[in-house]
Amino acid sequence: MIAGAGLGGLAAALALLRRGFDVEVFEQAAELKEVGAGVQISANGTAVLFALGLEEGVRRWGVHAADKEIRLWNTGQTWSLFSGIKPSGGERYSHPMFMLHRGDLHGMLVEAVQRIKPGAIRLSRRCIGFGQDGAKVVLTFEDGEEVKGDVLVGADGLHSVVRKQLFGAATPHFTGQVAWRGLVPIDRLPENERRLVGTNWVGPKAHVTCYPVRRGELFNFVGQVDRTDWQVESWTAEGTKEECLADFPGWHLQVRNMIESAGTLFKWGLFLREPLSRWTEGRVTLLGDACHAMLPYLGQGANMAIEDGYVLARCLEASGGDVCAALMRYETARLDRTTRVVQGSADMTGKFHNEALADAAGAERYVNAEWHPDKVRARYDWIYQYDALAVPV
Ligand SMILES: Cc1cc2nc3c(=O)[nH]c(=O)nc-3n(C[C@H](O)[C@H](O)[C@H](O)COP(=O)(O)OP(=O)(O)OC[C@H]3O[C@@H](n4cnc5c(N)ncnc54)[C@H](O)[C@@H]3O)c2cc1C
Repeated sequence: MIAGAGLGGLAAALALLRRGFDVEVFEQAAELKEVGAGVQISANGTAVLFALGLEEGVRRWGVHAADKEIRLWNTGQTWSLFSGIKPSGGERYSHPMFMLHRGDLHGMLVEAVQRIKPGAIRLSRRCIGFGQDGAKVVLTFEDGEEVKGDVLVGADGLHSVVRKQLFGAATPHFTGQVAWRGLVPIDRLPENERRLVGTNWVGPKAHVTCYPVRRGELFNFVGQVDRTDWQVESWTAEGTKEECLADFPGWHLQVRNMIESAGTLFKWGLFLREPLSRWTEGRVTLLGDACHAMLPYLGQGANMAIEDGYVLARCLEASGGDVCAALMRYETARLDRTTRVVQGSADMTGKFHNEALADAAGAERYVNAEWHPDKVRARYDWIYQYDALAVPV
């Protein structure tokens, strides 16, 4: 039984179904959909998605990111992020990186799960708690229904009910940063601003990440700014273009064009949670944001949830029916890596936006130091080179 049909819960369901396990996914929402936003899938996540049979869809709907650019907030000066560490004409990592619309990736996972087991995903099933004994787990829903299974995986996201019952609720700490997000139809942008490249615009008090998704039809815009007056952690709170533009005064015309051309803009406060030191109790474990929510600065929250799902399936297959041992194996295989990524993401705070970026000369020194090939290798290689298909379990 999996609680939560987000990217992590569905990746786990698909990995398990493909190995012959019987799986049911219980989702609180009444319909299957994802937030309208982008997600960057790096080599480590691509490896899993391809192994789950999604290569064709990822290539069709995603945009391949051959490189990424760093650009200066006011002048637009440009630096390449990965060209210094790639062999000429080739990929540095085992799999390519893709930029996707979350809804497209979610839709691919849903379809693949339902192809193997129609009816595997049950909607309007909000879990409120569970009980377990030596033989079974019983999951309870808000309407009083109960279902029994051998294992429960809490893939129920940031406000996980399963986590709360296992180890208590996480305490979120406000970071002092607010993020804006929106989608921009590419045909609203001038011809010369339609390049299919992912960019991190860096500035003294804010930074902007934007990249193409959905075959290049849309641009995903995320602008993160130092601001303490909005401390609501919501994916659906709307803001206005005027307010968003006011957060990026003096920024390059391309950034301001993007804000002006966006559809609805949403804003949310960024919060940090301590990673857990344990995920498992008997037949119940956790996965994804439920146990290791992170700041978005390394673009790894979804990648980690997808890796979790695959490794969990491998552990259950390798356990010979001893599910409690399998869940402990899974926790052991995943805990250190995900904790390091949570910490690495938090350490990126203040790197993408930094006072040194206020003027061009300071920015040149800062970018050349912070995105020196040695630093880029140290920051990303260990994340992207991980192989969820082969890591010992
Ligand atoms: C701005 C931003 C940008 C990001 N960009 C990236 C990126 O580029 N790359 C990347 O890898 N990650 C990125 N992430 C992180 C990523 O989106 C998350 O880490 C990822 O979606 C977590 O997946 P999940 O399945 O664990 O949780 P979720 O996607 O939150 O799914 C949880 C599911 O559980 C359901 N649920 C909740 N409670 C219950 C309940 N009680 N009963 C039943 N169902 C329940 C929810 O409705 C939901 O469907 C970003 C995050 C943010 C905020």
